[in-house]
Order: sequence, then structure tokens, then C-alpha cells
Amino acid sequence: MKDSNFLKEKNARSLWHPMAHPADSLANPPTIVTGAEGVSIIDVDGHKVVDGVGGLWNVNLGFSCQPIKDAIAAQLEQLPYYSTFRGTTNDAVIELSEELREFFEPDGLTRAFYTSGGSDSVETALRLARQYHKVKGEPARTKYLSLKKGYHGTHFGGASVNGNANFRTAYEPLMAGCFHIPAPYPYRNPFNETDPEKLAQLCLQALEDEIAFQGAGTIAAFIMEPILGAGGVIPPHKSFMPGVRDICTRNGILLIADEVITAFGRTGSWSGSRHWGVKPDFMCTAKAITNGYFPFGAVMIADDVVQVFEGDKTGKAAIGHGYTYSGHPVGAAAALACLAETKRLKVNENAAARGAELFSGLQALQDKYEMIGDVRGGHGLMCALELVSDRASKAPIGKGPIGTLQEVTYQNGAMVRVSGPNVILSPPLVLTSADVQTILTALDAGFAAAS
Ligand code: PMP
Repeated sequence: MKDSNFLKEKNARSLWHPMAHPADSLANPPTIVTGAEGVSIIDVDGHKVVDGVGGLWNVNLGFSCQPIKDAIAAQLEQLPYYSTFRGTTNDAVIELSEELREFFEPDGLTRAFYTSGGSDSVETALRLARQYHKVKGEPARTKYLSLKKGYHGTHFGGASVNGNANFRTAYEPLMAGCFHIPAPYPYRNPFNETDPEKLAQLCLQALEDEIAFQGAGTIAAFIMEPILGAGGVIPPHKSFMPGVRDICTRNGILLIADEVITAFGRTGSWSGSRHWGVKPDFMCTAKAITNGYFPFGAVMIADDVVQVFEGDKTGKAAIGHGYTYSGHPVGAAAALACLAETKRLKVNENAAARGAELFSGLQALQDKYEMIGDVRGGHGLMCALELVSDRASKAPIGKGPIGTLQEVTYQNGAMVRVSGPNVILSPPLVLTSADVQTILTALDAGFAAAS
């Protein structure tokens, strides 16, 4: 066994962690993960716990998916790298594109543009949306609209459309021309509206008002997650995303679905947009596209957008955007194997069934523990608990109790993610009912200790 204290010291003196205060690494050393098996991770001290986080919402098929590992190894032998910039392509990325085209055909998406991850996918969609309008002869359409509480990665474009101050303030000034509307978040919203359907209508009206205020002809795109993820798992009422689609269409505004979390089965459907019966103009994917085994992403593009770019005679549709690793053959091979397993195992169906069990178990915990202010879920395997120090005032919980909760839950067999006052659950989609129980029992112990 490795010396965990020595590793913690070396970690503190040699690296900074995303989304953490640099001074925290020694005071609150991170868990050192040294192995994983099935849906569980194993730490440096030999503890094995169910991963309630699924890596980072990405390890949908668990950690032991041999076909993906084999595909990566084989591709490394055959062709470890070559670019897909104009002039070259590779057989792995061609095969993958055909598969993705078929997979996303019901969403009306017919072309893929490859990236190295979620933030890149968002950046790609934002940029191509502006270019689309220029190609079409509407160059004044440059602004973006998005939801407060939305998360769209950490590049400057994505951060500018992000709706959470934690990811914005330190990096301002951000990109000009980005505006936000209230999210359909029944637990807290500026309208004090708790009825999800009425709230959806109010938020749609706010979108209409903002479009009128900005001038429809100045707006390139509206970007949203079909279910807000990092903002605390906030599923909108079923009328919301179709309403957004309708407003965007009427105003000539492109709809970008940020499905970095929701694509490939997490919501119980193969995409979050399909879950709500909506066809977006761009769909950003990443994360589960390779089961987290290789940094990779794809922006899927709707056929009407494709026609505008491919039909261009002016030269304006030449794409001045792309990454060294766009269409990486190893990533493509990983994604091909991952997609085959994802479909073979029908993980969307298991996500829906296990997600329902997890959600009702969390609701039962709310009956038991006062500090659980809100329980959200009901759409596959993405759930959250929002913790409060007082249910009546909804004052958010302090760092102390939520830290204890996380630690004791871990000691009792489950890794959960804490983000602000939220406990977030996004386990692998191959979870069993017994694994759901392990998570719930561990959380119960965690809440008992933190109460
Ligand atoms: N969009 C959404 C909806 C996300 O959840 C994330 C990551 N959690 C991103 C974009 C950014 O992805 P990445 O961290 O791979 O850059």
C-alpha cells in the first residue's frame, strides 16, 4: 500500500486543483483515488466505496468497461494520433460520425464537430452560431441568452453565458453581449412561484421580454441545459424547453442544448432534448461519450444549420475554428466502443428505473432530516438534495455540517459530491438496486452525524 500522508504532502506542494482554494490542499487533503472497479472507487488506504458521482457525471458504464479499454489499446497501436484539420481524416472518426449520426437522428442532428471536452463543445457551438448568422446574411445577430444557474464550462464564452457568480466574478470582465433570464427553479425564484408549470410560463415570458428588449435581430443563440446540472440538478417543467424552442424559432434565434451531462442516457432518454421532445440546432456533448476514459466531445449539428453552411457560395462558411485534438483517433475509437456498449446495455432504461428508486429513497430521507430543504430528481440518475439550516427561512446550510455529511457518507460506503449547499448524485448508469441502497444507507448515516 502507498504511503498516503507522503502522497498528500506531495499533492499539496505540486499541483492546484480545479474548483478549489489552492491553500486548501494541505488543510483538507483530497481523497487519493488509486483504483476503481465496477461502480466503485478504491482509495489509497484501501477503502472501496460506491461512486455516487460517476466520476464527474461521465463514467456512465462504470470503471470496468473492457471493450472501451481494448478499443483504446488497439487504436494506440494502429494510429495513435493524426489531425482532422482540412486535408486529413482517420477511419475511427469516420466510423464514429456515422454511428453518432444514426444515434442522434431522432434529434434531427446530422453532422459532428469534434472537441476535447465540454467547455470546448460549448465554445464551438457559440462560435458556429454566430458564424451561421453571418453566412445567412444577418451579421448583427451576435448576442447570447442563457439561464441563471446554468453551467456551461469555464472558457471565456462558456463562463460568459454561465449563470452562477462563483464561476464568473473572479474572471470578469467576461464577454459582452450575454444576458440571463431566471431559471425555472421552483425552490428559489424571483417570482416566489412554487408551482413548476406556472413558473415555467413566467420564465418563458421573461425570455420573450428580454428578446423584445434586446431586439430579436441582435441575438444569435439561446443556450440551456435540458436539466440544469452543476447548478444543483434542476429539472424544468415539461412545458419549458418546448416553450423555449418555440420562442427561439419564432425569433430566428438558434437553440443550443448543452447536453454535456444529459446526452447518452443519464436522464432516462438518449438525450435530454429528446426527453422533452425538442430538436435543438446544436447539441454539445462530451463526458459520457467516452465513459470518461478519454478527453473527447462532439457538437452535433441540426440539418437546417448544416444546409446553410454547406450551401454557402460566399466563402463565409469556412470554419476558422477547431482543436489539435478534434477527431482524435483514440478518442474516436473509445467513443465508438462506448456507444456500442451504451446501446447494448440499454443504460437509459436502467437510469430511469434506478433513478426512480434513488429519488424516492431521497424523499424518504427528507421526511427524516430537517436539513433537507429540497429533493430534486425524477429524470434518470441525476438527483440533488439542497440543504438548509432552517426549512422555514431556507437559509443555506453551513460548510461544517455539509462537510461532516460528506465525510461520514464516505466512511459508510458512498462518495457523494458537495457543491455549495447541494449534495449531488450522478452515479454510473449501470448501478444496481443494491448499489442504490448502499448510497441511501451511507447518506442516512451521514445525515445522522451532521444533524
Ligand atoms: N457544460 C455542462 C452542462 C457541464 O456540466 C460541463 C461540466 N460539468 C461543461 C459544460 C464543461 O465540460 P468540461 O468540464 O469537460 O470542460
